[in-house]
Amino acid sequence: MLRFLLPVAILALNLAAQDMPPEADRQLARDIYKQFIEIKSGYTTGSTTPVAEAAAARLQAAGFPESDIFIGGAIPRKANLVVRYRGTGARKPILLLAHTDVVEARREDWSMDPFQLIERDGYFYGRGTGDDKAQAAVWIANLIRYKREGFKPSRDIIVALTADEEGGGPYNGVAWLLKNRRNLIDAEFALNEGGWGEMSQGRKISNDVQVSEKYLIDFRLEVRNKGGHSSMPVPDNAIYHLAGALDRLAKFGFPLKTNSATAAYFAAMAKAESGAVKADLARVAQGDHDAMVRVAAASPAWNATLRTTCVATMIEGGHARNALPQLATANINCRVLPEDTVQFVEDTLKKVVADDQVKVSIVHDIEKGPSSPMRDDLFKTASRITDTMWPGVPTVPIMLMAATDGLYLRAAGIPTYGIQGFFFDRNDMRFHGRDERMSVTSFYEGQKFLYELVKSLAQ
Ligand SMILES: [Zn+2]
Repeated sequence: MLRFLLPVAILALNLAAQDMPPEADRQLARDIYKQFIEIKSGYTTGSTTPVAEAAAARLQAAGFPESDIFIGGAIPRKANLVVRYRGTGARKPILLLAHTDVVEARREDWSMDPFQLIERDGYFYGRGTGDDKAQAAVWIANLIRYKREGFKPSRDIIVALTADEEGGGPYNGVAWLLKNRRNLIDAEFALNEGGWGEMSQGRKISNDVQVSEKYLIDFRLEVRNKGGHSSMPVPDNAIYHLAGALDRLAKFGFPLKTNSATAAYFAAMAKAESGAVKADLARVAQGDHDAMVRVAAASPAWNATLRTTCVATMIEGGHARNALPQLATANINCRVLPEDTVQFVEDTLKKVVADDQVKVSIVHDIEKGPSSPMRDDLFKTASRITDTMWPGVPTVPIMLMAATDGLYLRAAGIPTYGIQGFFFDRNDMRFHGRDERMSVTSFYEGQKFLYELVKSLAQ
């Protein structure tokens, strides 16, 4: 039996290896990935500067001249790295973007140390394994590979690893570069995070290309009260006012609808899916409301694709165990469809809150960019490589439900596309959550996918 089985097993291994970069390049990408993951670049407590420096050291060792490497940013601990791989200059550059800050992760919330790259059961675990240090590591590893192979593109390839994507703080690397060093990152178009491969029950469904995205509004709900001694409670209680408002919000859903990007997405999904949901997805693409209700209920990701969402993410209140609260607040994080206005969301939220004791205010400035045009070269190339690597898997334009730094680039006139070729189970997305992970196979396949894609777009 063994002699019969062996050739089949070897054949399977060879087939798998074809979709992988060469061993030495896999090792390089893994080393860089590990190095990046193990640098604590938490958005509030950490620093992206060591990531930028680590990348710069590797690039210099690979022969990139110092004059083509830039490190700098808004403040010393929020540095960005920009490196230019020189082409003939016949065409305008392409920009490859990834952010190197991560959402905070506490050891006690995780099953393992979030700041160690741990390979277990076919997955890489660690904060940033999915969002967004895989793409950052792969951009650098692939650039080093092009250099070693003597690849001469017709356009410069620029890689920017940037700070402060998470939370959109005042030190955002893309915003800072656009304002202070635009010439370093100016490009015909950019590739970024925000589009990935979708899997369901181990099956690859689609390779997504993000062309537009929801935008973000954080609202603060605030109740103030004169308070008093907790031994003599009264019904007019700041925490109860807030709790009532949050309970009404929990039961509320924004209207379900599609736009041109999401209708195209659901039409493609209808072709890829099987079973009862297949017909519903096709109906959603046609605008059928009842089908939207069923599809939204079937998946948090589909729900978020079909409507603006607002959810409570933080609460705060009270000042002593034995005092009636004088203050209760909540942060409401809204992810808004591009076609819904700020005014619409604010008015709707106030109607849902329905309590004039609860003050509703917007927390920060709102950034919003246009959708990117469907570039023929990008979609044709991405489709061809996707179909070669994962036969039958469609390449699908999407609107992302989360926000990315692509919005700054789009607003500045650099069309941006979220594309990775990393595949994730769409019902087990762990970005920003505990035990964030990336399939080991998918990491290397994504490395190869992005290598081929950029090479083809730049040659
Ligand atoms: Zn991210």
